[in-house]
Amino acid sequence: MDIDTINWWVDHPTRDDSEEIENRFFDPIRNRIPEPITYNQLRQINIPEDPPATLDDLVEEFGIEILAYYIPFHFHRPDRPWGIYLRRVGIAHVRHRLVQIAGRDGYNFQNTLEIPTDVAVDILLLHELRHHAIEVVFARLELLGLGWNNAYQEYKETKRHDEVLHANTEAICNASVANQRKPFKTDYQPPRTPPPLPNHISYLDWRGYVRQFMRGQPGGYHDFAQFTGFTSEQVLQSLGVRVEQQVLHIDLPQIINELKKHSSLSILSSLPVPIRLV
Ligand SMILES: [Zn+2]
Repeated sequence: MDIDTINWWVDHPTRDDSEEIENRFFDPIRNRIPEPITYNQLRQINIPEDPPATLDDLVEEFGIEILAYYIPFHFHRPDRPWGIYLRRVGIAHVRHRLVQIAGRDGYNFQNTLEIPTDVAVDILLLHELRHHAIEVVFARLELLGLGWNNAYQEYKETKRHDEVLHANTEAICNASVANQRKPFKTDYQPPRTPPPLPNHISYLDWRGYVRQFMRGQPGGYHDFAQFTGFTSEQVLQSLGVRVEQQVLHIDLPQIINELKKHSSLSILSSLPVPIRLV
């Protein structure tokens, strides 16, 4: 899927989506939507503050959507533009949890707070990118002209009432985070130790800590481990796409390809999914 196809949806939006959680946090910024920023700009952000303590309970109750959210291009409106919204307090919260969890193993980020900040940003981005990739899958189905003209809207509406579909979706988005390697391998130099020898780089593998953080989230979200070994076909099946249908036979490889492509951070350089920091 390319930006022109997505722009078509942006010009012909479906009726407004009313996901409650997203709207709850959208309202305060409705009149001052910030400009999108690039992934590289995101790496330069400075979030000095600690998260409000009240956020802990909210995350346990509502999951990651309280920290970041995705507005689909199907439901784009000029005052509610599509893309990924990262909340500063959300990044601060994830970072705080990561520093706590890794701290139990003796890791200290007093002078290198940018390392857990980057990891926190990537966790939130990857979860929301998976929501984006799921929208692209349904958009592809709609474009096939095989009678699935409202596939995405139907999926969203079903998800609102069907707890299993909702839980599967969030677990699938967290599984996509859990399956990453590269973003979660960072440099790490313990403080107050002699400088490393030339050509010696210490790494820190965050994957275990990232999983531990996600296990503290509510039902669905914390069930990601059930989905990490899934094939793309199994992922689509869990989202209600009947991949076994003969009519899908020819298009399935392309759909799966798009699901993978749009779920990874590298999509941000080829198709700029708008990211806004709020
Ligand atoms: Zn989510």
